[in-house]
Amino acid sequence: MTRPPRVIGEADILARLMSSVAPTRDSRRLERMEDLVSLCARRGFIFPSSEIYGGINGFWDYGPLGVELKNNLKATWWQRVVRERPDVEGIDTAIIAHPRTWEASGHVEHFSDPLVDCRACKKRFRADQLDEAGPCPSREGTSDHDFTEARQFNLMLQTQIGASEDAASMAYLRAETCQSIFSDFKRVRESSRQKIPFGIGQIGKAFRNEINPRNFTFRSREFEQAELEFFCHPSERERWFDYWRRERLRFHIDLGLDASSLRMREHGKDELAHYCNAAIDVEYLFPFGWQEIEGIHDRGDWDLSRHSEFSGKDLGVTDPQSKEHYLPMVIETSVGIDRTCLALLCDAYHEEEVDGEKRTVMKLHPRIAPIKAAVLPLVKKDGLADMAQDFEKKLRKKFPTFYDQAGAIGRRYRRMDEAGTPFCICLDYDTKDDQTVTVRDRDSMEQVRMPMDDVADYILEKCSPERD
Ligand code: ATP
Repeated sequence: MTRPPRVIGEADILARLMSSVAPTRDSRRLERMEDLVSLCARRGFIFPSSEIYGGINGFWDYGPLGVELKNNLKATWWQRVVRERPDVEGIDTAIIAHPRTWEASGHVEHFSDPLVDCRACKKRFRADQLDEAGPCPSREGTSDHDFTEARQFNLMLQTQIGASEDAASMAYLRAETCQSIFSDFKRVRESSRQKIPFGIGQIGKAFRNEINPRNFTFRSREFEQAELEFFCHPSERERWFDYWRRERLRFHIDLGLDASSLRMREHGKDELAHYCNAAIDVEYLFPFGWQEIEGIHDRGDWDLSRHSEFSGKDLGVTDPQSKEHYLPMVIETSVGIDRTCLALLCDAYHEEEVDGEKRTVMKLHPRIAPIKAAVLPLVKKDGLADMAQDFEKKLRKKFPTFYDQAGAIGRRYRRMDEAGTPFCICLDYDTKDDQTVTVRDRDSMEQVRMPMDDVADYILEKCSPERD
């Protein structure tokens, strides 16, 4: 039986990281979410969906910078969790599954939050989050809400399939991506000839009719998850659970998130979902407090046993040596792509004072930054603009770039700082003589001079994954 590979401990990871984080200058980190929300809309990272119609609560659009950031995050997860591992297969399944799926998974029965209405102001709240309800604007003589009794509200979004609108055509938009991993388990295992232990990973959209979407994209009604379901022998479950929680913490640290803003929180027995034997959340310290960005769960054999029961298909496996027939145990890692993007954006946001002026800079790690380099001619005239455009065209084939010739060079640098572009390449009069350029580092603002021919490799090296 394959043993989980050794991973370095959480303490080692944190210690190594803390020692390598050296503040470059006096920076103010993000304190008010409004500052980030406004930058994200202004620069085209993320903005309300259907904005021209006044937006739609709980739905967000990713603009040109946002989609690159999100794709980089998804690609990093896919590379790390699926491609690099011989023991993990990837899949991409339909958003709508057979309705029996959600009966088997327990969502029809259990996937609900307690809901209360205020009879006066007509607003709805989650009964377990009433401390965040604020004062009631509609009552006289008191600011207390006039709440109804709590009732359970199922969070799954429903839709109809086909032309008729009867009970038989009702379906759900998936509330999590993992259920189809369980229903496809047998097919994927057999077609890929994988043996236990192995995992199946998937990235995709999920939908939840959240009662109170809030905190920007943190709690949305449509969001993306990257989930891994790792199937192992019952005797190995604790070991794999321990392995995956360390691996996942390391993933977030490698994304460039500040280690002191990350922690692992173990669920108490009273907090565990009905199917869960153990759970640990990776939490990030947002301006609105510590919040979950990923859950790591020991789901036991709940899912495979339920889908076996509801489908009538045996999802058990037989050990080739011992001939033991058993249901594998499942260790799940489930990370929210949108929440992690939000953590990356919060973490990256810095305000600094430079020569008496405020500069806002998004210190995204070069690996996940949407644009890797901007090409800026010092002036447009004397052939410098043409030269810079040719140069940018060549670089664009290797990584995402941006060309900007409009306005003073200082203002162009500031625009790229806000977009999180780690490198600005400036072509000046010397470039015409000796084919060298300056490369400005976004965070330190230091500039180095180098031959044009060396620039692509220099930037590619800075953007490549740093691995043990
Ligand atoms: P919460 O308790 O915050 O509602 P959860 O425990 O229900 O989250 P899971 O079902 O474990 O979340 O989902 C795994 C991941 O999916 C979460 O860690 C989170 O990153 C993401 N996620 C869940 N619900 C939402 C949502 N409404 N909006 C954005 N991301 C979400």
